[in-house]
Amino acid sequence: MTVTRFAPSPTGNLHVGNVRTALHNYLWAKRAGGTFMLRIDDTDLERSKEEYVDGIRADLAWLGLNPDGEVRQSARFGLYEAQFEKLKAAGRVYACYETPQELDLRRKILLGRGLPPVYERPDPNAPVPEGRTPHWRFKLDHDKPIEWVDMVRGAQKFEPKLLSDPVIRRADGSWLYMLPSAIDDVDMGITHVVRGEDHVTNTATQIQMFEALGAAPPQFAHEALLTGKEGKLSKRLGSLGMDAFKDMGIEPISIAALLARLGTSDPVEPVTSLEPLVATIDFSRFGRAPARFDEEELAALNARILHQMPFGDVASRLPQGMDEVAWTAIRPNLTILSDVESWWSIVKGPVAGERAPEDAEFLAEAATVAEGLDWSADPWSALTAGLKASTTRTGKSLFLPLRRALTAMDHGPDMKALLPLIDKNDAISRLRG
Ligand code: GLU
Repeated sequence: MTVTRFAPSPTGNLHVGNVRTALHNYLWAKRAGGTFMLRIDDTDLERSKEEYVDGIRADLAWLGLNPDGEVRQSARFGLYEAQFEKLKAAGRVYACYETPQELDLRRKILLGRGLPPVYERPDPNAPVPEGRTPHWRFKLDHDKPIEWVDMVRGAQKFEPKLLSDPVIRRADGSWLYMLPSAIDDVDMGITHVVRGEDHVTNTATQIQMFEALGAAPPQFAHEALLTGKEGKLSKRLGSLGMDAFKDMGIEPISIAALLARLGTSDPVEPVTSLEPLVATIDFSRFGRAPARFDEEELAALNARILHQMPFGDVASRLPQGMDEVAWTAIRPNLTILSDVESWWSIVKGPVAGERAPEDAEFLAEAATVAEGLDWSADPWSALTAGLKASTTRTGKSLFLPLRRALTAMDHGPDMKALLPLIDKNDAISRLRG
């Protein structure tokens, strides 16, 4: 049974990078018929806000990435405490008394000597400094090289002596991210941890935590980070939330379609549901280079997706009275869904059609031809065939004045599909002008 989790800290809104991680966890779980969990990492009670928790849930729902369950770290402090005591008894957790200033000075000395700034364990027999409350570190096993085969990065190897024992608990008793995350991954039965490559070193130390907790580590997929179009970690990317995309008229499926394939060796495709993305997620096809996110690419993809969107998927968001035939006629002209309103008002009228004086006679003839047509049987082909026969016009000089008179536009949906949507009498009066 595959179980994944998306573990945001509710200290802000989800941005594109978070959503990409959530999506990949969701797709991976669903591909295996497994479970996708939401874990709210709210151990930092001061910075975590309920409004962000609500926002995270709402964004996931909007994207269609519905979790199969949710847990909150703030409700699990008892579990962390119990595991902490066990690790302490086993000698895998120890008290530290250095101040940040002392640690900083030590780092500078090591760097000055050209040595890696790895935390040096205190002498266990040294006297406890007076008046200081300890914070706590996890003791890495220096004799055990850390290795795993990452689903994206392949074989990974870390020498524990070159890593600092991570601080897991502050002097005030509050928890840092590292240990609660490992405890939860064990307790929740997480089989695959999918997250950004900024967590690779954390994984090295967490692998030893899993072992110290008596559990086999899950599998890991560390994906290359997302950057802006220029290949830089742009500020804009870090602040682009789902509300911004909603305001731009981007469909949630467009975001998923792009983020599922960006930075992989599979092409971005204009899918209209998550299923094809579920069926094709494959971490071995993820690249090591940063994935470049381009808003223009997203906008173009959004248009391509709308051009294929089934009526049933958008029906509730379409103007009153617009049916499947009308949707199919109009969707090739949409960039964002709300553009449908202006095309629908052209269909329904009133439209003040445009006419050049030299086209007046031709359009009067068009109105006469239109009067004799059966509107239920391809009136556009019949109209243009009739006008070719009764006038000398062909090509653009035939089609453009008709389009302008009927729609007041130079471009738009295929007239063969559009004209039957316009009421016959209305079309005749637009041609008459
Ligand atoms: N709360 C952590 C973060 O947002 C979770 C990392 C993880 O997936 O373990 O970075």
